[in-house]
Amino acid sequence: MRIGVVGLQGDVSEHVEAVKLALKKSGRHGDVVLLRRPEDLEKADAATIPGGESTTISKLLIKSGLFEPLRRRGQEGMPILGTCAGCILLSKEAGNQAEKTKTTLLALMDMEVDRNAFGRQKESFEAPLTIEGLDGPFKGVFIRAPAIVKVWGECRELARFGDSIVLARQGNLIGAAFHPELGGDTRFHEWFLGLI
Ligand code: GLN
Repeated sequence: MRIGVVGLQGDVSEHVEAVKLALKKSGRHGDVVLLRRPEDLEKADAATIPGGESTTISKLLIKSGLFEPLRRRGQEGMPILGTCAGCILLSKEAGNQAEKTKTTLLALMDMEVDRNAFGRQKESFEAPLTIEGLDGPFKGVFIRAPAIVKVWGECRELARFGDSIVLARQGNLIGAAFHPELGGDTRFHEWFLGLI
């Protein structure tokens, strides 16, 4: 299997490392490719969209020509994991902050996010999460994270922090408000690889 990591901005190398480690730990054969041009996507069986700055990643996706093919592959059933900024881009609605910054969303998941929902004081923090499908707590690393404020249609919540949904799934699409690629625990990515 070949996993593509959108390599335009954000914590790209952390995503690459996390996928590589999960491949190794789970005994699966596969490799990781950076997605920077539309042709990079052609041989990918899955993709991850890193955390970073959603406005910047969105603009670079459009500029590189990756935006439409990535959206189409997502609609056709290719597994996509978006973390933090990537989660924002997967959502259909991201409030007036997205409008103000003219962030074009991939709009694949029936969910609404609130960017930087956890405020300045708690811009970055860690919290143990209970995730449906994983045994035992998983360390959630939140960095200027969005909250998923609403899911509808086919989208399901898989984890909460306080009142906020922080992990959602819609079939082949996974949006995480936190950063499962940080922290060295490969269980999350192993589960994602299982969707391929
Ligand atoms: N706050 C960022 C945004 O709105 C996301 C932060 C992150 O990806 N760690 O795009």
